[in-house]
Amino acid sequence: MFTALLHLCFPHVCESCGITLTPTEAFLCHQCTIQLPRTGFQHFAENPVEKLFYGRIPVQHALAAYYFSEASMLRKLVHKIKYRHKRKLTIFMGRQMGKILLQTSWIHQITCIVPVPVTKKREKFRGYNQSALLSAGIAAVIGKPVLPHALKRVVFTGSQTRKGRILRWQNVEHAFQLEQAGLLKNEHVLLIDDVITTGATTEACGKLFQQANIPFSICSLAYARH
Ligand SMILES: [Zn+2]
Repeated sequence: MFTALLHLCFPHVCESCGITLTPTEAFLCHQCTIQLPRTGFQHFAENPVEKLFYGRIPVQHALAAYYFSEASMLRKLVHKIKYRHKRKLTIFMGRQMGKILLQTSWIHQITCIVPVPVTKKREKFRGYNQSALLSAGIAAVIGKPVLPHALKRVVFTGSQTRKGRILRWQNVEHAFQLEQAGLLKNEHVLLIDDVITTGATTEACGKLFQQANIPFSICSLAYARH
């Protein structure tokens, strides 16, 4: 009753298509929830995200929850997460990632969650690190702790959007530091990113875990096929 009244006074709308949500819907309407471009990668070893890192970093398991493309709903949602200060939506999407992770055969191996960090400047502009909020949503579902400061971003690399793979790699190769290697001893880290395109960012973070002999897996909200 209270929720229904609340919705009447402050109508909630679907973050994707904009229609008014019913009291039982949250963030996305039923139709948009059905139409989310799910990858199904949680059911497959050697999925495209795992293959992306072959010969680059010794990642144990990897997946992306959704496809990211120009036309996809994820593009709109990721834009809101990154540029429209949608804190609750980000945590909600993290919870969806958590539910997908629970369907993998390897989730029990994970002992902690580490978000890919953003620069201080970006975090200040955005008000949060989107990967840290996704991690919080995941943690609420899978029941593992988040270590938000295990990695640190040290160099401002500028916008990533219009650069090729080699240029991107040169930009991000030295952009991260492992700050809490001691804390991660005997852990199997689940590294969280928002969108994996070339994988350069996650690769740079993964190299740090590799150098410290810390086993790690990767989960991103979306995967941009290229
Ligand atoms: Zn909708």
